[in-house]
Amino acid sequence: MYKSFLLSLLLFCVFLSTPSAASGTHDYSFKVSRGDAFYKFFFSTGLSGKLLKKLMASDERAQKLNKIYPGDKFRIVLNANHELDQIIYSPANDNPLFITYDGQSFNYGKTSIQKIGELSQTIITIKKSLNYDAKKAGVGAEVIKMMVDHFSWEMDFSRDLRKGDKFMLSWNGEKTPIAMVYVGSRKTIALFSYKNTLGQKKYFTSKGATINDTFAFAPAKYNRISSSFSKRRFHPTLKIYRSHRGTDFATPSGTPIYAPAKGIVKYRATLSGYGNVVYLKHGSKYLTVYAHLSKFAKNLKSGKKVKKSELIGYVGTTGQSTGPHLHYEIRVNGVHQDAEKIKLPKQSFVPTSAMPEFQKRARRILQDLNIG
Ligand SMILES: [Zn+2]
Repeated sequence: MYKSFLLSLLLFCVFLSTPSAASGTHDYSFKVSRGDAFYKFFFSTGLSGKLLKKLMASDERAQKLNKIYPGDKFRIVLNANHELDQIIYSPANDNPLFITYDGQSFNYGKTSIQKIGELSQTIITIKKSLNYDAKKAGVGAEVIKMMVDHFSWEMDFSRDLRKGDKFMLSWNGEKTPIAMVYVGSRKTIALFSYKNTLGQKKYFTSKGATINDTFAFAPAKYNRISSSFSKRRFHPTLKIYRSHRGTDFATPSGTPIYAPAKGIVKYRATLSGYGNVVYLKHGSKYLTVYAHLSKFAKNLKSGKKVKKSELIGYVGTTGQSTGPHLHYEIRVNGVHQDAEKIKLPKQSFVPTSAMPEFQKRARRILQDLNIG
């Protein structure tokens, strides 16, 4: 038991600690998992039990270190002599706590960590809306739009954004930031720029993938396309000519329908024309519609985040429909598009060879923003 604990501690350190080579200091980063205790992190850096006791007795704020939760983060920085220099405790739901040690006493509140220097930051704390608060913080309209376009893939600005949530931008002098980070009470989304060999700048998660998704062509298994997108066609039920602004996939009732890309359920309803219908929003531009469903997937409601290939419902023939089929629409910025012809953006990735450098830079940026 003890052995396996030591082993896991060792592995833990190998993967998570990031000693900085530059200054001879040791800079360890930890993320709290279930069952972790602060002393484990403290001891794993080689610091003594005597010092821990002194720390705990130094101030009542030190008691926060005994109440840590999964998702919280720590940085423990040692000087070149392997003596404690600073502890930064970043709770997932609270402001970071900085504790510095000068060899004699502990100091609370101020950071002594050097900034990367050439980077500057904009911190936007949400009071009204991203648009309002970012403008107030001096961020230009183009960058605000870019932030919305990116973060909308993972959050619904109309529902998920809360007062007190933060957006952090890190700049190195270019017109667009080198990193954009959302820090909410429930989650953090961090995106880092990377320029490809052509000098084109895109934003990637720390895993090296763009935040947008690649769309699957069809959201369900189908036998054939029974009706293509057209500007004008004869409607068999209504007996009138009208445009068909979607694609009909002929497939039996009960065939499962899967989200073609990750998104957020915008709307779930039963309408006279569409029957049972689901609207999915993907990022800020793309909306997909699924009509005539026999049934919705369990727990599918507005605001729910769905992954790519997640079940959203079953094919049927509800509403104005001549037989079981899936009526599928893609709208881009509100305009109906032909699903058979439209070229949708694909997810892209940082080349494997560039990943170590990319991730190192990402870690430095986060540390600089004090959310490492
Ligand atoms: Zn249709």
